[in-house]
Amino acid sequence: MLITNARLITWGATNQILENHALYIEGDRITDLGPSSELRSKYPQAAELDAWGQYVAPGNICAHTHFYGAFARGMAAPGDPPKDFPEILERLWWRLDKALTLDDVRYSALVCLIDAIKHGTTTLIDHHASLNAIEGSLDVIARSVEESGLRACLCYEVTDRNGPERTRAGIEENLRFIKSTTIHKQWPQSTITATFGLHASLTLSDATLEACRDAHDAQNYGFHIHAAEHEADQYDSLKKGGSRVIDRLHKFGVLGPRSIVAHAVHIDPREAELLRETGTWVTHQPRSNMNNAVGAADVEGLLRMGVKVGLGADGFSNAMWDEWKAAYLYHKAARRDPRRMSGATVAEMAVTNNAALAGVFFPQAPMGALAPGAFADIIFVDYHPTTPMTVDNLPWHILFGFENSMVTTTICAGKVLMKDRRLLFLDEAEITARSRELAKKMWARVVV
Ligand SMILES: [Zn+2]
Repeated sequence: MLITNARLITWGATNQILENHALYIEGDRITDLGPSSELRSKYPQAAELDAWGQYVAPGNICAHTHFYGAFARGMAAPGDPPKDFPEILERLWWRLDKALTLDDVRYSALVCLIDAIKHGTTTLIDHHASLNAIEGSLDVIARSVEESGLRACLCYEVTDRNGPERTRAGIEENLRFIKSTTIHKQWPQSTITATFGLHASLTLSDATLEACRDAHDAQNYGFHIHAAEHEADQYDSLKKGGSRVIDRLHKFGVLGPRSIVAHAVHIDPREAELLRETGTWVTHQPRSNMNNAVGAADVEGLLRMGVKVGLGADGFSNAMWDEWKAAYLYHKAARRDPRRMSGATVAEMAVTNNAALAGVFFPQAPMGALAPGAFADIIFVDYHPTTPMTVDNLPWHILFGFENSMVTTTICAGKVLMKDRRLLFLDEAEITARSRELAKKMWARVVV
């Protein structure tokens, strides 16, 4: 396939904006890049996809999300409004995740995947919980991901909240699914992969962390966990064994260059050092942090000391430019300083670091760049800048000009999933209608 008449935003090591260029795609890779006229004569037989002068960029990457949270949209949490994050967990999320069936899991994932395709997110790192439908839940999500054509890294969040049987079932689900992606190669390896999920230090005993460490090859597959999202996680960890959360996770072998720690809002300087020393990934979710009123992580400080920080959505819409905007505004408001969190820093997290993080799980080809050899994960953006746009001010055009609805075409692994805003594989009307029915039933099951 030959994409022509494109304004390429290449990102990658040397970001360039290239007018009237073309990309040649073979299988799931970009194999050539050059001026439209040149590539047209080089590949005269190729099926042409005309970009009509739109911006063509690598697909967005979401470093941390929860497909299972989709049915929370519009749901009233029972009881008084939660006053803090622990109450939000108890009254909303820990009731919702117990009410999910495998059918709910499937449709929650599908509606999130449609949202991702429509808004230009081609790779997602998901963290799943469904306490009364654990076994096989990752297969159900993987099947939805396969149907959608997107790329995802999946895990099940192990927790002690509902007794030892469910803890064991969570561990088993991770191990089973990891095997199905690696040893049994049940899923296409370049689009579906796995890591090992843990909920958060505050719902995991020493014995469970030990069991996870012993059962799991962290060196090769890593862990994906929430850490220090709220002070409660630190208080709990100090109470359990006298150590802070990141120290505790380090002690149990959770940290490392293949592991993801989501949030890290309430960590001290030594914990930040531990994250850097171990090469652990941190993900930042500003919309979620604002919504849960947990505080603002010192993201700029972490980046400055060499901690790798990516940008996630945490179950909010998988429209990553909304997360860009939230990151850009949140830190200015939180510190009352308009110099904080520049557009370039947001791009460093969302583009450079997210691509490197996704590359940990999908090492077969470079990600997040338009270059020969890279995965053909590509979006078309119908944006018409009203001021000069250069590689230097591109992040600010994205922050102040780009809208998620400007994405008209989404390609993942060389396959066109949406063309001119029409989904080619998923039946959006059927999926949303079924999702509404299932969500209504699930809401009724959420125990007051
Ligand atoms: Zn999360």
